[in-house]
Amino acid sequence: MTLSGTDFLVRDWSMWTLPRPALVYWLVVDLAALAVGGYVLAATAPPNLEELGRFGVIACTGLVVIVITAVATQLSNETRRNPWALHICYLAAGLLALPPNLVLLLLLGPALYGVLGAGPQAHRWLFTLAATTLSVFAARLTVGWEHPSWDFGVLVLGGLVLLMTRAVLVAIGLRLRAPAAGADEVFGEPIDVVLGIVAASTGGLVAIAVLTDPVKALLAGPPMFLLERAAQLPQWRRSAQRDAKTGLSNAVHWDLRARDELAKASSRQRPVAMLLLDLDHFKRVNDKVGHLAGDAALAAVARELRGAVRHGDVVGRFGGEEFVVLLPDTGPGVAESVAERVRLAISLLRVATTAADGHAHLLTGLTVSIGVSTSDRYGYDVSALLVAADSALLSAKGYGRNVVAMA
Ligand code: GH3
Ligand code: MG
Ligand code: MG
Repeated sequence: MTLSGTDFLVRDWSMWTLPRPALVYWLVVDLAALAVGGYVLAATAPPNLEELGRFGVIACTGLVVIVITAVATQLSNETRRNPWALHICYLAAGLLALPPNLVLLLLLGPALYGVLGAGPQAHRWLFTLAATTLSVFAARLTVGWEHPSWDFGVLVLGGLVLLMTRAVLVAIGLRLRAPAAGADEVFGEPIDVVLGIVAASTGGLVAIAVLTDPVKALLAGPPMFLLERAAQLPQWRRSAQRDAKTGLSNAVHWDLRARDELAKASSRQRPVAMLLLDLDHFKRVNDKVGHLAGDAALAAVARELRGAVRHGDVVGRFGGEEFVVLLPDTGPGVAESVAERVRLAISLLRVATTAADGHAHLLTGLTVSIGVSTSDRYGYDVSALLVAADSALLSAKGYGRNVVAMA
């Protein structure tokens, strides 16, 4: 049997490795968006010249900003990211100022962006595009399908529907794909919410301009460019603070957070504990199974560690295969039992990886040694606690590894 190019591509999509509920959900959202798109095309009368003119202004402004952004990204060697806030902005403008079929045409913006940049992750942008399509038309339904209302309350409600529908649809998909993902990965951070609101309301202003005098709407270009740049800031901050392999705080950011927590604990005279973890014989994993499997093991250990401690505990990747956790409000007894729990959880880990020879390999038998220090013996100085935990870790290795040692 020969496969056509498309067949090959579709079979290759990493989509099919998604957990079954996520796969079903993603397909349902994609099909629902397709159905809504079909309905819009069938049920909307062809646009008149005036509507086409408004479409031209909104689409051109969006396009020019996208092109300038892409060039700026290229020139400064930044990684290219989906300009989601920009898409929201011109879609919000379109849904207030255009008939539904031209709004559908505007959705070619995010679609084209996906086609040009998605690669093997095509199902992801298709899903995001589907979620965006559904939220845009849900918002249109809210403000009035035939003739959008300009009542202020209705506009605000429409904006809320646009942002909330998209956020909830995407969040459900992410949660089904990775049930252990943290809330900020699933819903975004507060700054993402602010950016969404700014994008939607800027879109509203563009719609007002385009309905009054289309040419004046071109003034929206520079603010839209600024909006797109601002939308990248949280990503830059995240990548400056996080370790790319594990998603944990990197050593510098962990140090800052730990100092903060220690200062608070010291002023309130609350106990604090520090765990320093080092994977046992990790070099063997790299040597026997390969470095990629080693990386997968590090990511799995980080997830396990994150899941085994409380939300307020400060977890970081200290160095290569070393992790560190600051436990506020924790005395020696509890710290030791937390460390034991972590040690046990890691020893039970089963990590699906690919070995250096390309075959699937289930990694088991990972163990960790843990040194624990506490403020009641070593005070609230981050270095003193780390030195003590490190020396306890050394003892744990000496005892034969897969052991917790108290400083
Ligand atoms: P033990 O700690 O039990 O004494 O033995 P070990 O083999 O873990 O100790 P060692 O410190 O000698 O080796 C740590 C190894 O961790 C060396 C390096 O190959 C590996 N490593 C460090 N960072 C990474 C990483 O980011 N990815 C991978 N795959 N391996 C890493
Ligand atoms: Mg080490
Ligand atoms: Mg080690």
